Amino acid sequence: MYTEEEERYRFELREFLEQELSPLVEQIEGEELSPKGFIRKLGAKGYLGSMYPKEVGGTGRGIVYDTIVSEEVAYISPVTDTSRSVTSVMAAAPIYHFGTKEQMERYLRPLISGQAVGAIAISEPGTGSDAAGMQTRAERQGDFYIVNGQKHWITNAGIADHITMFAITNPDVHPHQGMSAFVIETNMPGFSVVRNPPVMGLRGVPHSHIRFENMAVPASNLLGKENEGWHVLTDELASERINISSRVLGAARRCYEEAVKHSATREQFGRKIRTFEGISFKIAEMKCDLDAARLLTLRAARMYDQGVRVEKEAAIAKLFTTERGFRIADKALQIHGGIGYWKGSPVEQFFRDIRAYRLGGGTDEIMKFLIQREEYRDFGY
Ligand SMILES: Cc1cc2nc3c(=O)[nH]c(=O)nc-3n(C[C@H](O)[C@H](O)[C@H](O)COP(=O)(O)OP(=O)(O)OC[C@H]3O[C@@H](n4cnc5c(N)ncnc54)[C@H](O)[C@@H]3O)c2cc1C
Repeated sequence: MYTEEEERYRFELREFLEQELSPLVEQIEGEELSPKGFIRKLGAKGYLGSMYPKEVGGTGRGIVYDTIVSEEVAYISPVTDTSRSVTSVMAAAPIYHFGTKEQMERYLRPLISGQAVGAIAISEPGTGSDAAGMQTRAERQGDFYIVNGQKHWITNAGIADHITMFAITNPDVHPHQGMSAFVIETNMPGFSVVRNPPVMGLRGVPHSHIRFENMAVPASNLLGKENEGWHVLTDELASERINISSRVLGAARRCYEEAVKHSATREQFGRKIRTFEGISFKIAEMKCDLDAARLLTLRAARMYDQGVRVEKEAAIAKLFTTERGFRIADKALQIHGGIGYWKGSPVEQFFRDIRAYRLGGGTDEIMKFLIQREEYRDFGY
């Protein structure tokens, strides 16, 4: 499934993470330590730049390598990989695909080197799944766009240096023809963090509600062409969904391994609980789900690296991996019995964390909508 070089890369990465990330997990999860410092270390080691060529500061290895990074970081700390990926995949990919040379130097390089933290701002209080319904406006005035509006659920925004953001520039046409993408800096006057709401899982990074009030954004911060932001947005979502799939794969693999260990050592009725079919068959089901999720994620990632359009394959990988990943976490918790429900037990935390990914990056229902739409299209309907 993986080449020797990919396996070697994974092995070296694991050693690095075991030394550098594992000791920080409790503090990150306890919201006492921002993962920002660790992201800088990942950048220095080249673990943020797989998707980008050397000319812009990346390693040029491709998204398959990024899925390995995501999986291994999430195996230890899903929220750390969330913060990492929002920076080096979600915020960065649109800048690489649509940015000018100046934008790449000013914004992409720092994201890939770990010197800056990024965020991506699409969702608003009134529009989530229906992203085209966004209300945030950017009006051209001379050399600036004046931005007004609100975004919520913006992971990293409270700690970000810059944000890849979408707004309506022409309200008189359909948003697919009237939306634009920008890179904004969080120190621009008019930007504010309204609040960082408490969340069920993925604690340790802010998922912020942000506001733009007459924020003057230089016209040079427009990403791609004016009114072509919908294209920027949909282009970004394929890599985001592959990335989320690989992150869930790592988190689910951790739950699975914890369940194997626990069931092989815990005794009830004078026997190891793994000798009860009710337990061991769950292990078999979890393993099948895990392997299938890996194959679907890897298929989408390899196609992406070959430059093939992967909207459908990325949606299939995300739907399957996040649904089954949550099921794996649930079974792992069940296998642990009462101690799985203890606060601070790994499965309790991963159960909460994994649940988020059936929402962020497009919900299960939206993935099903996309998959069926592409299928009917392929059948000529
Ligand atoms: C942990 C987390 C991190 C996030 N990070 C970011 C971020 O960094 N940047 C960002 O922009 N956004 C982010 N989001 C927001 C996320 O993208 C939205 O939550 C998601 O798109 C769903 O939107 P919504 O929450 O408004 O739900 P809604 O769109 O209101 O949906 C509510 C329910 O209705 C269903 N539904 C809606 N439309 C349809 C339909 N056509 N057919 C069938 N069912 C439908 C949905 O599937 C869902 O079950 C994050 C969310 C989470 C949970």
